[in-house]
Amino acid sequence: MIFKRDNWSALRRDFEFDPDLLALAEEVEERVAPQVEAVRARGERNAVRVLAAFRRAAPQSHALAGTTGYGYDDAGREALDRIYADVFGAEAALVRPQFVSGTHALATGLFGLLGPGDRLIAVGEPYDTIRTVIGTGDPPARGTLRALGVTYDVVPLADHGGPEPSSLHERLTRPSPGRTVVLLQRSRGYAWRRSLAMEDLAQIIASIRELCPDALVFVDNCYGEFVEDREPPMIGADLCGGSLIKNPGGGIAPTGGYLVGRRELIEAAAERLTAPGLGSHVGPTLGLARTMLQGLFLAPQVVSQAVAGAIFLACYFEHLGFAVSPRFNEPRSDIIQAVKLGSREAVIAFCGGIQAASPIDSQARPEPWDMPGYADQVIMAAGTFVQGASIELSADAPMRAPFAVYVQGGLLAAQVKLAALTAAQALRERGLA
Ligand SMILES: *Cc1c(COP(=O)(O)O)cnc(C)c1O
Repeated sequence: MIFKRDNWSALRRDFEFDPDLLALAEEVEERVAPQVEAVRARGERNAVRVLAAFRRAAPQSHALAGTTGYGYDDAGREALDRIYADVFGAEAALVRPQFVSGTHALATGLFGLLGPGDRLIAVGEPYDTIRTVIGTGDPPARGTLRALGVTYDVVPLADHGGPEPSSLHERLTRPSPGRTVVLLQRSRGYAWRRSLAMEDLAQIIASIRELCPDALVFVDNCYGEFVEDREPPMIGADLCGGSLIKNPGGGIAPTGGYLVGRRELIEAAAERLTAPGLGSHVGPTLGLARTMLQGLFLAPQVVSQAVAGAIFLACYFEHLGFAVSPRFNEPRSDIIQAVKLGSREAVIAFCGGIQAASPIDSQARPEPWDMPGYADQVIMAAGTFVQGASIELSADAPMRAPFAVYVQGGLLAAQVKLAALTAAQALRERGLA
């Protein structure tokens, strides 16, 4: 509780908040207390699961040092793979600092699963950078999945959040000579839709199994890790992955990505990351195993801080009159909080306000730019210790209607709460709130 009245003079001195914004913050902090308590309890349960996996793998301190060169017998890499597999309920894992981002890890998984004559069916529009990997242009760009001869189709998500059963049925029962891979995305990405809860994913996977028993299910798990008690491999996903500068890196891992899933699929992906014949047997951790392991250890706690902050921000902006998704008391399956701001100016002001509450580069004012892999201009506020880390507090928005901003992360809930007020104050100073 940072907005109690006896703190106001310090907050006014250090952050120059208007008194009525502080009064609202005090009220909102009280209002969201039950939801925040539930999030804290879930964080503890997930921390228990993670520590149990560490105990089973029992890494020794020399694993933290890592290797160089080929990285044969790197004990840190072996511990990472074993612990990630255990935590996510999968047979095997591929956790590497050589994955430069979540997109790289997910693309490696998709290229490992798919070849000429195979088909990829996405349930819901995939995230912007994954669409670029698939190659949605006509003709598809060189190097993309479609250019390789993979056919691609999307089953849209209906208003109820899941796919229309009839369209799923129609796509999945079409005969296809090759392998079928179904891509599901847990988080909302840059879309004004709710994230898919584990329960929703379990139902969709059950329908897929019924309609097309041989299909492989691939889940883009970005932003979802540790938000619920279960992870996609526990409900039947064949392969799933994400970024270590998001949830599972705990704000500590400086780079990397992961894939978890069935052993033979992990090996196929490893041969894409390295080369046929090398697979998962090489890859030095270069001294990064300590931060990657420590980050995973902290991740349940960090994710619960981020989610607690998002709940406050949702309730705060709803009180200021903005549409938010999800609402503070709705269930969550990712760390993203969307706020509909309605105009380009408001998005820029809001992101400037978030940036002002950051530990690094708080003086910077973000501007929209042409970010690689994205079709629209994007603005990103991120005053982070790790460049672009969105488990640290960040806000971004594609510059397109309805001018919604997507806020995520925060190593400390207190920072997210302060950022909600600096953003509100920035909007108010421009007459936008
Ligand atoms: C962040 C994200 C990705 C991957 O993005 P990177 O910036 O490459 O890590 C993919 N899918 C979703 C839904 C994401 O949120």
